[in-house]
Amino acid sequence: MLTLLQSFILTVLCAPIMTVSTEEAQTQEALVSERMDYYIKYASLDVPWFYLAAIDQYERNIQQVRSDLPAKKGAIAIHIKEDFWVGEMNPESDDQLPLTIAYFGGQGIDGNGDGIANPSDPEDVIATMAAYLETHTFSEKSLQKTLLQYYGKEETVNQIKTIAEIYAQIQTITLDERAFPLPVHQNYSYRGTWGMSRGWGGRRIHEGTDLFASYGVPVKSTSYGVIEVMGWNDYGGWRVGIRDMHNTYHYYAHLSGFNKDYTEGDLVKPGEIIGYVGSSGYGKEGTSGKFPPHLHYGMYKYNGRTEWAFDPYPYLRQWEQQEKSGQN
Ligand SMILES: [Zn+2]
Repeated sequence: MLTLLQSFILTVLCAPIMTVSTEEAQTQEALVSERMDYYIKYASLDVPWFYLAAIDQYERNIQQVRSDLPAKKGAIAIHIKEDFWVGEMNPESDDQLPLTIAYFGGQGIDGNGDGIANPSDPEDVIATMAAYLETHTFSEKSLQKTLLQYYGKEETVNQIKTIAEIYAQIQTITLDERAFPLPVHQNYSYRGTWGMSRGWGGRRIHEGTDLFASYGVPVKSTSYGVIEVMGWNDYGGWRVGIRDMHNTYHYYAHLSGFNKDYTEGDLVKPGEIIGYVGSSGYGKEGTSGKFPPHLHYGMYKYNGRTEWAFDPYPYLRQWEQQEKSGQN
């Protein structure tokens, strides 16, 4: 395991070397290192850097899928509401003076020392979020309570906690690697059947892609993530649910068995074997053989309000091509 400093150096120094091909990639790398600077600068014992990073990533994720939230440009995606920033009773809804903001009970503070508390300045925003959390937090448990108070939804806290756990264990925020869920040298077949009602065992209706393969073919995690469920479900059979850092929940169903090295709460990396292809499900625990063996793979996105299914097929095609061409 790399130390934080080592991975920080890797993130800042090595990543640009590997991706100098486009200007866009360089801009992206510069943003990532600026982000990491802020997280480390404003971390504290009760509010570690990986929680600040997770909150920021969570907000970036929901801005990508919500039309009512503007996607924030720049290093920090966290969007703090006006009232919260200036204080509810503050007559100036765009007040940026630290003194009057504090007087009216607002939380906005001046992080970068330019004399104003500017909600569009990334450093002022991360400083404000860190200070608010720090004031109300005494342990990791109470940090989650503080987040629940701030965001108002258990699912949101769970998603942020998951991202924080991934960052804490991997010690970096650049985790864009992906894997195809089956070994590409094996025999398998799948089609884009999104929207068709026929298929075997989605979490609700048929929401996902069926990848047909023989019993016992290894099933791999497609992303970094934390195992949220691992067990029996009457439709899905032996199934695994993994939540990643992009607010996506990955669902692997009808397995013949699990990789016994893993249990709920564990971190998995892309390409790691989580179980084996089977035909379990459509009955009480242990039911198997009611349909041909296949992996049912589903993807669900959480937007801060609700979770919905989207079509995994184009992603599967992309990951398969990447592995076949040796890019992973
Ligand atoms: Zn299916």
